[in-house]
Amino acid sequence: MKKLQAVLITGGAGYIGSHAVQEARTYGFEPVTYDNLSTGHAWAVKGSLLVKGELADRKKLSEAFKKFKPVAVMHFASHIAVGESVINPQKYYQDNLTNAMNLFSVMLERKVRYFILSSTAATYGDPLEVPIPETHPQVPVNPYGDSKWILERILAWYDKAYGLRSTFLRYFNAAGADASGKIGEVHDPETHLIPLVLDAAMGRRKEITVFGQDYPTPDGTCIRDYIHVTDLAGAHFLALKRMMETDKSDFFNLGTGKGFSVREVITRAEEVTGMKVPVRMGSRRAGDPPELVARADKAQEALGWQPRHSSLENILKTTWAWHRNYFGKKSAGRKNKRAGHS
Ligand code: UDP
Repeated sequence: MKKLQAVLITGGAGYIGSHAVQEARTYGFEPVTYDNLSTGHAWAVKGSLLVKGELADRKKLSEAFKKFKPVAVMHFASHIAVGESVINPQKYYQDNLTNAMNLFSVMLERKVRYFILSSTAATYGDPLEVPIPETHPQVPVNPYGDSKWILERILAWYDKAYGLRSTFLRYFNAAGADASGKIGEVHDPETHLIPLVLDAAMGRRKEITVFGQDYPTPDGTCIRDYIHVTDLAGAHFLALKRMMETDKSDFFNLGTGKGFSVREVITRAEEVTGMKVPVRMGSRRAGDPPELVARADKAQEALGWQPRHSSLENILKTTWAWHRNYFGKKSAGRKNKRAGHS
């Protein structure tokens, strides 16, 4: 049997990274996770290679390249919370930039020429047109988006100077969980809308706070384009294959082209779960553009990518199944422990 080509997946034990690890072999690649497990989980990459290491540790990183000889790097390891980035920008610039710079220098040393960047719709800032095409001006309105935009610009120069090819995948809102029920989103603290809404449905939290109801949208709440994490993961390998064939850098939006407001997400979550979601109206969260919806045709045409799993209903169903499986078991475990002590 032909040996699969290795791909180094930083942050492979995290939410989106672990779904990429899960999909890799289907697309003909062997995933090697490089993760410090600070927010990721070893259980999320069971059955594949895991190197526990820091991106700041150049020696360890270099050894991993030497040992596994990856043909490409997918870089998921990053801080990702928009709201936090406004309050603590240093964390975002310091870590998101220096870690990536380390990675690039080891790639150049080891002559690895293909890089996939987890970029974001947040690089566009407040959109001038919706749906947002890839050619839209990039004027980020929060440090998270800005740190990714800076990386895009660095990589454009690295392409010219060093021939390091890269693809920027500008994610809209990643959500959902793998159909196996074995992996899914676990952030601590959780900041994303869909898991928080389902937490409220499950009674794991008292309520969901809606951040702002005075936006210029039909119901006054923010509109986002939710894309299933399995679709997102698949796009990475299609993009990598194309980049290796064409030997050219490129950039794509990854979204569905359809937006849902925060209120709509809550209503649909109540339908899918059959549970009431207690809602509290709150003020706007700094750094949130009113509407982020992708123009999604470039990836579909150039990569032959189809967001097959990304109906809002399927996103909510798979997240709900994961939630009950993971958090349901955890709280049963806690109850048992308490019972054991009494
Ligand atoms: N949101 C909200 N309440 C929450 C978390 C998020 O109203 O507790 C809103 C947030 O303001 C944004 C949308 O839900 O308009 C999606 O936010 P999320 O943090 O999931 O993703 P982001 O768009 O920031 O990447």
